[in-house]
Amino acid sequence: MAHTKGAVVAPSGMERYLRPAQLTEALASLDTGSRTIIAGGTDYYPARVGKPLDEDILDVTALRELGRIEDTGDAYRIGALVTWTDILRAGLPPWFAALKGAAREVGGLQVQNAGTIAGNLCNASPAADGVPVLLSYDASVELASVDGERRVPLVDFITGNRSTGRAANELVTAILVPKPKRPARSTFLKLGARRYLVISIVMVSAVLEEALDGTVAAARIAVGACSEVATRLAALEDDLVGRRLLPDLAGIVAPRHLSGLSPIDDIRGPAGYRRDAALTLTKRALAELGVAT
Ligand SMILES: Cc1cc2nc3c(=O)[nH]c(=O)nc-3n(C[C@H](O)[C@H](O)[C@H](O)COP(=O)(O)OP(=O)(O)OC[C@H]3O[C@@H](n4cnc5c(N)ncnc54)[C@H](O)[C@@H]3O)c2cc1C
Repeated sequence: MAHTKGAVVAPSGMERYLRPAQLTEALASLDTGSRTIIAGGTDYYPARVGKPLDEDILDVTALRELGRIEDTGDAYRIGALVTWTDILRAGLPPWFAALKGAAREVGGLQVQNAGTIAGNLCNASPAADGVPVLLSYDASVELASVDGERRVPLVDFITGNRSTGRAANELVTAILVPKPKRPARSTFLKLGARRYLVISIVMVSAVLEEALDGTVAAARIAVGACSEVATRLAALEDDLVGRRLLPDLAGIVAPRHLSGLSPIDDIRGPAGYRRDAALTLTKRALAELGVAT
């Protein structure tokens, strides 16, 4: 490996570490060879401990155009460089409470300052806090390559444990969060072995939309860390529609509503405990949303 003009160059002549300031340059680099994308690096570097850092890297942190949160009229467009801290500081409507709640609980302040929402989704860990939240918002992922742009619903983007539908030459450029059609409220609840700096044992994100008559017009509830990919509770969502928005909404949650989950036994908790905790957190989320004004 040789060094020229400050860049690290492989014997093939390809620069091994790129940090372009232009999106076109970033996309072109992904098209000419296999590169590992890094943003905050808070998932990437811990996973490399003890292994040689011998990959060709595309560091996206200079792509300033990806650092914005924009109101596009019918949605919010969260750029791929937006960090958890950016979310906490952004003036977003109250129905973003679940995403702000997750932002407050991801890692510690240093991780929140560097870690991006897009990196959280692309890493596709079953315990990624952003995934159930963005599923409950019906979010989509925007991907770009030299061939153009496409949008994929998040539910289709994450295809398994640490696996996504991103093609090797694509960069995630943004996350699109549609605005709810009616007044909405949301919450995020996370259970870990301690209060902060902890990987989730279970997390629940819930969004309820309110009809004019005070009943639930639409419900979207997702549970994380209880299956390979966070899962929406479709049967519960259906059962909630038409109910009055009161704390006793929690009373309708039954074990059958969580039958689609497939928790595993691991170092953080046995499957039975996870299933039980998911039931409790789901009830708590609905009790909380039932009193919000
Ligand atoms: C101490 C510590 C505590 C943590 N606590 C939590 C926690 O409580 N909850 C939680 O969910 N996570 C936690 N994490 C994990 C991590 O911080 C988050 O997942 C974070 O959001 C990852 O963002 P990043 O920008 O650092 O991703 P990176 O590490 O830069 O990238 C992660 C993955 O996404 C890919 N990627 C990144 N950006 C793009 C893009 N624009 N397009 C395509 N691919 C991309 C990378 O190639 C890589 O595979 C923690 C990490 C640490 C070190």
